[in-house]
Amino acid sequence: MTGNNPQTRKWQALSNDHHLAPFSDFKQLKEKGPRIITHAKGVYLWDSEGNKILDGMAGLWCVAVGYGRDELADAASQQMRELPYYNLFFQTAHPPVLELSKAIADIAPEGMNHVFFTGSGSEGNDTMLRMVRHYWAIKGQPNKKVIISRKNGYHGSTVAGASLGGMTYMHEQGDLPIPGIVHIAQPYWFGEGGDMSPEEFGVWAANQLEEKILEIGVDNVGAFIAEPIQGAGGVIVPPDSYWPRMKEILAKYDILFVADEVICGFGRTGEWFGTDHYGLKPHMMTIAKGLTSGYIPMGGLIVRDDVVAVLNEGGDFNHGFTYSGHPVAAAVALENIRILRDEKIIERVHGETAPYLQQRLRELNDHPLVGEVRGVGLLGAIELVQDKATRKRYEGKGVGMICRQFCFDNGLIMRAVGDTMIIAPPLVISKDEIDELVTKARHCLDLTLSALQG
Ligand SMILES: *Cc1c(COP(=O)(O)O)cnc(C)c1O
Repeated sequence: MTGNNPQTRKWQALSNDHHLAPFSDFKQLKEKGPRIITHAKGVYLWDSEGNKILDGMAGLWCVAVGYGRDELADAASQQMRELPYYNLFFQTAHPPVLELSKAIADIAPEGMNHVFFTGSGSEGNDTMLRMVRHYWAIKGQPNKKVIISRKNGYHGSTVAGASLGGMTYMHEQGDLPIPGIVHIAQPYWFGEGGDMSPEEFGVWAANQLEEKILEIGVDNVGAFIAEPIQGAGGVIVPPDSYWPRMKEILAKYDILFVADEVICGFGRTGEWFGTDHYGLKPHMMTIAKGLTSGYIPMGGLIVRDDVVAVLNEGGDFNHGFTYSGHPVAAAVALENIRILRDEKIIERVHGETAPYLQQRLRELNDHPLVGEVRGVGLLGAIELVQDKATRKRYEGKGVGMICRQFCFDNGLIMRAVGDTMIIAPPLVISKDEIDELVTKARHCLDLTLSALQG
């Protein structure tokens, strides 16, 4: 991306010469040069060329309270002056991590009253894997090691995170998954439902869990992990029949259930957690992203009381991070939760903006490129197809990437997962801003269609 600001090219040169960007084709990025984002406010970003862009992705699903909240900056600054760092390893603690643990216990589902903190969502899932195996070992069942996960799920990018995730393109690099992790089908009706109705397919997909447990033997299975709604996989909202059937299976077998709430948590679905939306009863929940609105890195694992009771009998848990429960991150998270609560942001998502966004997004169903619009809360997906009735894609054209580029060039960030366009705007988005988002999305769909026909 090149424009008129000479500073842009200086920054791009620094990128070329020194920076290796995550999830990027290094060579391709050098040729094109990154767009330089310089500042942000509310739901808008500005780049170094002065373009104003509506951030339909809340950064990477994280900026729940929107950009530019002074309260979060003040909380960080105050904590840095008071106690910028201390560890929690040597039988010490500090006020922010303790107050944050209590604040999270207050909003978490009943009986989930303890939190282990990490620096990211990936580390939260690494912690989960070690804690699950430790838990079963304490209970005298050390063979219950296998973690069942789902194809196309996303659980982070560390070795354990990427192994738990079901992204084959991640597995291909670095001999993943590590042993002891297996994947079952995802509840992605639009892409994989074939001739089944969504309800039939949802039950079929849930039954894959039971089949896998029986195949491996319940004595060898430690846990099942899933996002309530898959985010990075393409905002895959399971058919209504999926989680109810899953609940039956999870209740039947003696395994732990881990909800990866890194995206769904902290209000994204219009409830505090995705498990609240679906009425699930997890033993552990991974959190990150919305926990601090992305203002500072922090993740964690919320653990149910009955699991903690077992862990209490196990001696040392030989696991932790230098930045576990970092005081500055904890202070920011506390203030973030206070804002979400005091400003009734999640109530407004639930009662007002989520229904409005979902209704307005579904108007795009009349567009010739659109095969399905789905979503829950402030999560949405638009499937781009060549033929609506048969759900046939434009093969090999990279339609999603074409659309994503039009969006960027027209002041909207929508992400492309294959040919699925996805959105997850800040939770503070207003109805007017939703109108702008949908209007821009339609315009970009038009441009994409013309490009395909031209
Ligand atoms: C982003 C994400 C993670 C990983 O979090 P990081 O902070 O990037 O390590 C894990 N699980 C889900 C569901 C995510 O969306």
